[in-house]
This record gives sequence, C-alpha cells and structure tokens, in this order.
Amino acid sequence: MKMYVAGQWVDKPKKISVTNPFDGSVVDTVPQADKGDVDRALESATRGAKVMAKLPGYERYKILKKAADLLEARVEEFGRIITLEEGKIIGEGRTEASRGVQTLTLSAEEAKRIHGETIPFDGAPGATRQFGFTLRVPCGVVVAISPFNFPLNLVCHKVGPALAAGNSVVIKPATDTPLSALKLTEVLLEAGLPPEGIQCLTGHGGEIGDLICADRRVRKITFTGSRDVGERICHVAGIKKVTMELGSNSPIIVMPDADLEKVAVATAATGFANAGQVCISTQRVIANRRIYGDFLDVLKSKVAALTTGNPLDEKVKVGPMIREKDAIRVESWVREAVGGGARLVVGGERRGAIVEPAVVADVKPEMRISCDELFGPAVAVTPCDSIDEAIALANDSIYGLAAGIFTENLEWAMRFAREVESGNLMINWGPQWRADLMPYGGLKDSGFGKEGPRYAVEEMTELKLVCFHLAG
Ligand code: NAP
Repeated sequence: MKMYVAGQWVDKPKKISVTNPFDGSVVDTVPQADKGDVDRALESATRGAKVMAKLPGYERYKILKKAADLLEARVEEFGRIITLEEGKIIGEGRTEASRGVQTLTLSAEEAKRIHGETIPFDGAPGATRQFGFTLRVPCGVVVAISPFNFPLNLVCHKVGPALAAGNSVVIKPATDTPLSALKLTEVLLEAGLPPEGIQCLTGHGGEIGDLICADRRVRKITFTGSRDVGERICHVAGIKKVTMELGSNSPIIVMPDADLEKVAVATAATGFANAGQVCISTQRVIANRRIYGDFLDVLKSKVAALTTGNPLDEKVKVGPMIREKDAIRVESWVREAVGGGARLVVGGERRGAIVEPAVVADVKPEMRISCDELFGPAVAVTPCDSIDEAIALANDSIYGLAAGIFTENLEWAMRFAREVESGNLMINWGPQWRADLMPYGGLKDSGFGKEGPRYAVEEMTELKLVCFHLAG
C-alpha cells in the first residue's frame, strides 16, 4: 500500500515488507517515510487543523458515523487484514474490526457533545459583576502513535476522538502492522473527511519518531506502546499535551471462596487471547494457598485445550507471536523461572513464532516472568495466604493498568478496589476486559490520561475560560 501524506497517496523507492507472523510470507509492502515526508505531513496537518476546527460538530458526526458504517460493511475484510499482519486468530480479528465500528460510532456521538460550563463567579469575594463560562477547543495537530497488537481498534481510539474534537491527525502506525491503519485512512476519506484532516505516515519509529514528537507544530501526542518508548516520547515532546497508554503485568487474585472452574475459564480467556499480547493480559495469578493445588489442576486442563496453529484456521485458539524473537524471549523467561525453582505445569514449547500456552507455578515475585512485562502466552502462578499479602503482591509492580479478583466476599472485593494500584479493576473476571466506551488507562508506569471516546475527547481538547466584566 501507499502512505497518505499532504492529501496524496505517496509511494517511495524504499519499502518496508509487512509479513505474516505465522509463515513469514510477505502480505504487502509500505513506503519508508523520511524526514521530508514528516515535514510535509506536519505542514499539511497544520492546514488540516484549521479546516477541521471550522467544521461544525454535526459535520464531524456525519463523517465519523459514515466511516463507522463503511467499516461495518467491511468487517470480514478488515478482520482478515488484521489476522494477516498481526497473527491473531481470525475470530479475534473480526471482533477487533467490529469493535472499531463501535469506537468510531461512539466518537461520532461525542462530536455533538463538546461543551463547557458556566462558572459561578459570584461565589468568589468581589466577583458579583463577572459572568463566565468555559469553552472546549481542539488542540490542533494530534499525533497518534500506535502499537502492533490492535492495529485497527487502537488507531480508532485515537483518530475517532481526535476528529470528533475537531483536530487534524497524523497517524504513525506500528511498522509490523500498518495496513489496517492505511485502510482506515481510506475509509475516513471515503466518508468525507477533508483530505488534510488526516495523514498516515509509515516508517520506523526509531528513525522518524523523535522528529514527529519534538516538532512544535504538534500540539498533542497520544501514544500506546511500551513503557520505554513512552518514556522517550515524554522526554522528546517538550511542552505539549501527552497521553500515555503503556504496558503492564496484570494480576488476578484468587481468594479461597472463588469458583475455581470460573477462575480457570477466565484465566485461559484473559491470559492467552492474541497469544498473550494484550496490554491487560493476565500475566500473574496470585492464588490463596488453600485452593492453590486444586486451582492449578483445573487451570492445566483449560490451558492444555488451547490449540495453536495457523490463525486463519477457525479451529485454532492461539496463533503466533508477532515475531519469532519475541517467542524466543518468552521461551527463555519460562526456562529461566523453571531453572530458578518454579514448576512448569503445562506448555512452554516453541515452534518458530508459536509458543504453546504455558502455566508456570510456584513463581517468585522477583522472577522476570512475574516482575517484567512478558507480553506472551504464559501465566505465572504464585501462592499467598491472605488478602493483605495478595494486595501487596498485586501492587509489587512498577505497572498498574488492570487487575482482577475472584471472591464472593464483599469486604475483600472492596479492599481490592480501593487498595490495588490499577486503572481498571475487575471483580469476578480477569484484568483483560474492556468495553470501548469506558474510561481506560493506567496508573504508575502504565501511563496517564484516559481513552474511551468520551474521556479521550477531553484529552484532545483545551479548556478556555471566558469572563465578561459587566457594568452592574
Ligand atoms: P512499541 O515498540 O513501544 O511501539 C509502539 C509504537 O511506537 C510503534 O508505532 C513504534 O514504531 C513507535 N515508536 C518506536 N520508537 C519510537 C520513538 N522513538 N518515537 C516515537 N515512536 C516510536 O510497542 P509495541 O511492541 O508495538 O506494542 C507492545 C507494547 O504496547 C506493550 O508494552 C503493551 O503493553 C503496550 N500496549 C499498551 C496498551 C494500553 O492501552 N495501555 C495497549 C496495547 C499495547 P515502530 O513499530 O516503527 O517501531
């Protein structure tokens, strides 16, 4: 495919191959953007921001609603593109495409609801003749940098609210998975988006990322990706608004009164979807010692049933990881834990980029498989004796994106909700659960700022205060 810069579909002599993670075949190629392309994109986006800011809310609603409808008609095609470039199973590809429709629809609705509020100045001493209100205005040029693991819906979560709020957007999709973002750009243009309202630049973040993020024409950066790249962007960005959706090593706490069958089903569902490459995947299970052995028995059978293979095969439950080197890393972290005294309950063998879904028991919190972000198909199980210890273990992490607890005890559930340092807290389900309308984002090194169209629109706008000084 070509990239979209300054109102044109642009090719370059230098190309990047997009490969199918399952068999390494080339799915397509995309141009490799350079410094000149970045400059042209930002120049055009600056003009686009002026056009977008003048577009009435109802027009922005109509464009986004039409884009949602066009995407809905192409869910099967988008689902297949997602699977081909990312490697998730085809059912998950279709689900992601359908969620993209939801995210655009929710964003369209927000385009009609951007408002300020009146300020009760008379509550301040000596301010009885003032009348004031706030105005929400677009930031201007928004840069949207997205990760490989949800190549469509996470782009929709940035582009939808940014356009709803009247900004222009420059998308920098992950180099492994740029095709869904380019196709989404096609859809938005077909829906009537002004040509300079959007740019989609393909190229290596390590080469063009600093140029984009440091540029003063950019007024807002919305980034989803790894902690370390996020930290670099924060350093480079200077004085501009930034939203950071970063990594995690999300835990589930299993209390002794939990329904173990339900916990095992949830752990298998939330630990291994997209081969464990979800920012809120269950990575750690902190299980009470009273049910520890029984829980591992049930979990083993559920995880052993997760068949691996070609993600286009409807019967396959877990596909490849994005790159073979990541599969090698996961295999080595599992081996390292076992070498340090942990016990492999099931899985862990590797064939190319596929790792058999693994459960590792008796994991010590300081082992890499527990304390770093694994981002792969393995869960690390650690015993504990009390709710206090479980909460302390859950919080023993630099991350804080999502967590779950299984219990019927309201007191324990409320303590979990209040005391676990995490942005999303699930009671009687695993951490990997998201409805696209909810406020979503992490604490600690998992980032700051919220996504979910209603909340993201706030991040994509600036608040102005207007004050009338009246005569009497
Ligand atoms: P990544 O390596 O951090 O890359 C993310 C994006 O940043 C890519 O588009 C990448 O481009 C770009 N990038 C790389 N270096 C850059 C630089 N110096 N300046 C600007 N941009 C740069 O992450 P990933 O491997 O794609 O995704 C996995 C990570 O994302 C995990 O840590 C996961 O937890 C996190 N994640 C978080 C959420 C959330 O909502 N909190 C959701 C999904 C994923 P290239 O591809 O060209 O390198």
